[in-house]
Amino acid sequence: MDEITIDCPYCGEAIDVLIDSYDEPQQYYQDCSVCCAPILFIVSENEAGDIQIEARRDDE
Ligand SMILES: [Zn+2]
Repeated sequence: MDEITIDCPYCGEAIDVLIDSYDEPQQYYQDCSVCCAPILFIVSENEAGDIQIEARRDDE
């Protein structure tokens, strides 16, 4: 498991999230620990093999 810090797309607070697998592209929801809004996380790998994690609002 790996811990990363992202900015909540709803309230803008920096929150820590745990990524449990880099095996394949995935997306999942995790509630913000500050405002409890459901953040959509999209995990993907770029051409250089680096993992990118995007945090999005669910209502866009
Ligand atoms: Zn939040």
